[in-house]
Amino acid sequence: MAKFIFVTGGVVSGLGKGITSASLGLLMKSRGFRTTNIKIDPYLNYDAGTMNPYQHGEVFVLDDGGEVDLDLGNYERFLDTSLTFEHNITTGKVYSSVIEKERRGDYLGATVQVIPHITNEIKERIRRIARDYDIVVVEIGGTVGDIESMPFLEAARQMQLEEGRENVAFVHVTYVPKLKVVGEQKTKPTQHSVKELRSLGIQPDVIIARSEDRLEESARRKISLFTNVPEEAVISAYDVEDTYEVPLILEKEGLARYITKSLGLEDRKPDLRAWREMVEEYKRLEETVEIAVVGKYVKLADSYLSIKEALKHSSVANGVKVRIRWIESEDVEKEGYELLKGVDGIIVPGGFGARGTEGKIMAVHYAREKGIPFLGICFGFQLTVVEFARNVLGLEGAHSTEIDPNTPYPVVDLLPEQRGIDKLGGTMRLGAYPVRIKEGTLARALYGKELIYERHRHRWEVNPTFIEQLENKGLVFSGISGDDKRRMEILELPGHPYFIATQYHPELKSRPMNPAPVFRGLVKAAKEKKFGG
Ligand code: GLN
Repeated sequence: MAKFIFVTGGVVSGLGKGITSASLGLLMKSRGFRTTNIKIDPYLNYDAGTMNPYQHGEVFVLDDGGEVDLDLGNYERFLDTSLTFEHNITTGKVYSSVIEKERRGDYLGATVQVIPHITNEIKERIRRIARDYDIVVVEIGGTVGDIESMPFLEAARQMQLEEGRENVAFVHVTYVPKLKVVGEQKTKPTQHSVKELRSLGIQPDVIIARSEDRLEESARRKISLFTNVPEEAVISAYDVEDTYEVPLILEKEGLARYITKSLGLEDRKPDLRAWREMVEEYKRLEETVEIAVVGKYVKLADSYLSIKEALKHSSVANGVKVRIRWIESEDVEKEGYELLKGVDGIIVPGGFGARGTEGKIMAVHYAREKGIPFLGICFGFQLTVVEFARNVLGLEGAHSTEIDPNTPYPVVDLLPEQRGIDKLGGTMRLGAYPVRIKEGTLARALYGKELIYERHRHRWEVNPTFIEQLENKGLVFSGISGDDKRRMEILELPGHPYFIATQYHPELKSRPMNPAPVFRGLVKAAKEKKFGG
């Protein structure tokens, strides 16, 4: 039977609860327990699909096409696993299934209420996933005290009663600020948020204190005393530069050892060798290449979290650090190519909508003409086709019909059967689909095989009418959809040092020990450009 670890957050949001939960998952998995992570998002949205990356960071996409919170990306990377849509529970999902059941008459005339109907639905969803695991880490989003998270905390409390105390642990992540004037770590906010949690019937087993510097002993003692948590279970998680270091710090602090003990599990040694090696290798890197990411949500780095991570994975694999130059594509429109000067590589990421489009096209142009290693992703792939059509084929005004419905040369367009269906989210091609890679191409060399599965999130496609023209001028479509064979998936430009773009999102499957091949290739090419091959 599975054991459950609930992770809650106090005081403020943005404490890195996701990284903490992912780290905890890794620590349990590395002890040989079959472990998985669940994210609860108390918002009313059904899923993350319709959410603006500016508010919540990137929308992560799973193999099954689920559009989920970016924390699932953290879980996948830390646990080196692939999750399903069911691993992200939202208020929207819970309520819509309860209402559906009510309409069907499943509740046999009962008055449908938050307790027990909503809480039962929540518990059922958690237990359904738990069937195949020894440990389930459940991160409850938001901050204790928020109205939205109440039903989830209540469900968690009930689970401890029903599953037994020895099978459910509570980890509370809080913030311990240091006041500049007195230079002392303040525990009062932590005391208050634990009080709040206890008023809901939940006594935390472990407190993870997030602070800038290591937690002082006096602060630890105070937290322990006021929250009724033993000192050894007050864990210090201080700021580190590299999030991949967090599991190592938490391990040193004894987090997993304490939890296994309190859950009555065998005290096993974790195998973190490969992880530690990766972290140390990253620290050792001295040489740096600079890669520009030309996007439209660059002010919030979390909007491109997986890209950032994929570059980090590729960094370790290539023995060179990657510094990212975040560039707002609208600024390229205003200030010109100057902004791109000196970079060793360029990425044009995915995106939706018109704003900044021309700036992205300029970035593609610059990379192509100047021989700068280039990777285009999704919208970036489509705009690469637009750039090539305009500037190499001379098709003036060529565009994607997403941005210019009246373009004379719709080189990127909806496929005929998609037209007319316009409900947001409805016609999107989502999740993992097979891609067949042609022999003798760069893509084939990078992946080393013919058939790959990559994750998608798009509606538009390269317009089949223009493919021959584009190929006649030297663009190579080296990857084609493996199922219907009609969709262009990868393009490349022979003769250029490194020029590749993908309709799918390679960053979503990049893992610390197994970087996405096209990212790995980009960093390698950037390194060769800067330091010679
Ligand atoms: N907006 C484009 C489309 O829907 C690209 C989407 C993306 O980059 N994720 O096809």
